[in-house]
Amino acid sequence: MYFGAIEAGGTKFVCAVSNSQLEVVDQVTIPTTQPEETLQKVFAFFDQYSLQSMGIGSFGPIDSNEQSPTYGFITSTPKSGWKYFDFIGPIQKRWQVPVAWTTDVNAAAFGEFKQGSARNEASCIYLTVGTGIGGGAVVNGKILEGFGHPEMGHVFVRSHREDDYSGSCPYHEHCLEGMASGTAIEDRSGKKAESLANSDPVWKMGAFYLAQALVDYTLVLRPDKIILGGGVMKQAHLLSLIRTSFAQLINEYVAVPPLEQYIVAPGLGDRAGITGCLLLASELEG
Ligand code: ADP
Ligand code: ZN
Repeated sequence: MYFGAIEAGGTKFVCAVSNSQLEVVDQVTIPTTQPEETLQKVFAFFDQYSLQSMGIGSFGPIDSNEQSPTYGFITSTPKSGWKYFDFIGPIQKRWQVPVAWTTDVNAAAFGEFKQGSARNEASCIYLTVGTGIGGGAVVNGKILEGFGHPEMGHVFVRSHREDDYSGSCPYHEHCLEGMASGTAIEDRSGKKAESLANSDPVWKMGAFYLAQALVDYTLVLRPDKIILGGGVMKQAHLLSLIRTSFAQLINEYVAVPPLEQYIVAPGLGDRAGITGCLLLASELEG
């Protein structure tokens, strides 16, 4: 028997199968097109295996409230075709297995908590800075959710004094995602984020916005670790700019671990999400 995992992103789906020791035995990447077409490819991959359970970490927003009639759906995404799409219904129907269902960033937080940068901690936050910004938290071994899942990417930030940009988010002005995501960086500068020089002022501004959010998360949750992943964080110099800005903003008001240990890169690299999904699948059996 195998565990199945789907890291469902807006650009691509990563599907993996592991043995009971959580060693990946097969994996495939599928471009995210229309839901039916994408799911047909997902089915074709997993049909080769006898699955015991499945863990799914999806782009969102999603309905993760088990009491809700639309539990297991993607909800108000602007992504064409996916709005109010019942994701886990067809999966449960096809293989009749238990399904763990959460956001992509919650899954990544769980992966990092169990096996990555936060494996010796009691709590962590995982934030992805990519096309959008999203975050999840694990507290005392449990993914943190209330009425719904956290939406850490849409907290409000104060403008940098040299920045007259009001953001790329269609819902809010001056929210973190609108000001510091890859989309925002590219919209503001008119260039690909990876092509901008380290000295470009956009990085200092991005660090300022991300640091503000990390201060807020710190004040609300006091996590043991904050892990920053996603495409934009491939800019290695950004991490130290964020730490510097964080130190200035929090101004020693509360104690935090040394910043090189507190604000860190994912220990599992790009595998945080899919690893978290496999772990969630394995815990369904336990
Ligand atoms: P997604 O968020 O779509 O799941 P990623 O986390 O890879 O995917 O984020 C993609 C975004 O990250 C792109 O919009 C791009 O702006 C940005 N990006 C990717 N690579 C780099 C890089 N080397 N430096 C800066 N930004 C990057
Ligand atoms: Zn927003």
